[in-house]
Amino acid sequence: MSKTDNVAAKSDNTKAKQMVKKGLRLNEERGPENRDDPKMKQSGIKLTSATQELIYKAISKAQTSMRRAHRKNPMRGEIWKGIRHKNLSREARYFLMMLTHNAYMIGTNWHCFDKHELQERATCKKCRETESLEHILTTCRCNGQEIIWNLANEAWEKKGYNWRKPDLGDILTCALPKFNKNKNEEGDLRFYRMLISESARLIWLIRNNWVINEQAQELSETEIRNKWISVMNKQLTLDQDMTHHRFEKKALSKSLVLKTWAKVLLNENELNEDWTSQGCKVLVGIWPR
Ligand SMILES: [Zn+2]
Repeated sequence: MSKTDNVAAKSDNTKAKQMVKKGLRLNEERGPENRDDPKMKQSGIKLTSATQELIYKAISKAQTSMRRAHRKNPMRGEIWKGIRHKNLSREARYFLMMLTHNAYMIGTNWHCFDKHELQERATCKKCRETESLEHILTTCRCNGQEIIWNLANEAWEKKGYNWRKPDLGDILTCALPKFNKNKNEEGDLRFYRMLISESARLIWLIRNNWVINEQAQELSETEIRNKWISVMNKQLTLDQDMTHHRFEKKALSKSLVLKTWAKVLLNENELNEDWTSQGCKVLVGIWPR
């Protein structure tokens, strides 16, 4: 190779690296600092027709899942409202919004690059199939999705409900189902919303770390379980903190927090009736199978 060829190859390489970096930056975790992020609002946002088409696809998927699982046919407005539901963490709302816009740099989104090595990123390196959102969140063999959904299953059954593994549409509409089961429904629904959105987001974060960080190893089952437990415990502690009167009108009602976590706490029988100021942990996933 001549010196000029060598320089050209190096510059091509640098360009490719920059393109990858730019693409992957989109996948980084950057929850909106500002609650009024205009992207979170349906109105007032100017969408290109390509983006609009993607959104329609996501919404229609969400509607299909709701019809199939809950015999409901929510309007688009309801689905948008669900994505911004107050029971979801700010990070989870942002994550669902990004899913709806298919805005993460995955799968066929890599096909817009000419370079073969960038186009290759469209394929999951473990399963050798296109790395769609469905693939990552519900079928991939390498990012712990199966372990995480099994833990979510365990938690939801402890609440006394039948579990059905969510598809992408179910994840997008996790704030919409009603179960009409018992008097604890308000708390159970709130728990379900957190359970689905936080579990899905954790699957995404684990996958993302594995793909972006070339040195990263696949996590072991124990590591994945610990991550899930830590995510759920964080939500629990946050709920406990938010019952404090210093939050005044924004404080959460103690009874809602007690209902939300009923039946899924470790040593629940030994806790005070009002455990909101006690150290608590979630029960599910604590012991190895
Ligand atoms: Zn895969």
